Amino acid sequence: MNDVLRIAVQKSGRLSEDSLNLFKECGIKFDNGAGKLKATSSNFPAEFLFLRDDDIPGYVEDGVADMGIVGQNVHVETNKNVSETKLLGFSKCRLSIAIPRGEVYNGVTDLEGKSIATSYPIILGNFLKEHGVTAHIHEISGSVEIAPSIGLADAVCDIVSSGGTLLSNGLKEVEVIFRSEAIMISYPKLSPEKQDILNQILFRIDAVQRAKNSKYVVLNTRNENIAAIRALLPGMKAPSILPLADEGWSSMHSVITEQDFWQNIEKLREAGAEGILVMPIEKIIY
Ligand code: ATP
Ligand code: ZN
Repeated sequence: MNDVLRIAVQKSGRLSEDSLNLFKECGIKFDNGAGKLKATSSNFPAEFLFLRDDDIPGYVEDGVADMGIVGQNVHVETNKNVSETKLLGFSKCRLSIAIPRGEVYNGVTDLEGKSIATSYPIILGNFLKEHGVTAHIHEISGSVEIAPSIGLADAVCDIVSSGGTLLSNGLKEVEVIFRSEAIMISYPKLSPEKQDILNQILFRIDAVQRAKNSKYVVLNTRNENIAAIRALLPGMKAPSILPLADEGWSSMHSVITEQDFWQNIEKLREAGAEGILVMPIEKIIY
């Protein structure tokens, strides 16, 4: 029987879309029609399981799934024995402690003896322990933000992205205790065949991620400016230089990182670059 890598992704939620896009950008096709719990790729040895994110680390620890994508918050909180294979850069958020807006906060020690409602007792417990603070952790599974207003707890510890939910519940963020992004986790004892399939996926993800961070730049210039412009184009290799039909002019092609882009584009113009085209790149393979 040919090996197939079983991949667990969130069925619906804040990780789903980016997780599925990641595989699509890697050219792995599958049908994820509404309500489906399982899908097999039509062009790659992979099968997808659509699950609640909280269940994914357990499935991966048991080897029911070979690989999965979850937030680091869920990975650390569930504390399962899985390999941390790759950080993926999406679904960024933070886990913070918040208290009623009118209250004064001078530091972590203000939490001593307080009760804090959270769905993250492990991460919160680690944080309090690190700071030598004893507080009562009140574990609840959802709607954490309303806990103080109904008298259930003095503070909350929950996921924050913009802070809007906290604000509308009369709370203010006082302590960021954990920063999270999506992470690929995998079964620690994959067979060599499955490891090989996983490596193929990692290779493709690298190519896609590199491309996302880069732009393809094409520009025209007088030949006498080529050296100065070349110094501003730290491409993968030397830039390609092609003569234009107009005597004394050339076109230069190179790849530039997104970070370098705005900074260098001004300098390129000053150095004599004209007609600068900047294009997205789909994949970069070294
Ligand atoms: P499920 O039904 O699968 O249990 P859930 O309600 O627990 O879903 P979501 O709200 O979909 O989870 O969030 C999934 C993960 O996305 C979180 O564990 C966190 O890592 C990340 N996340 C949460 N909130 C945000 C946000 N506002 N922006 C970006 N990422 C977020
Ligand atoms: Zn969940």
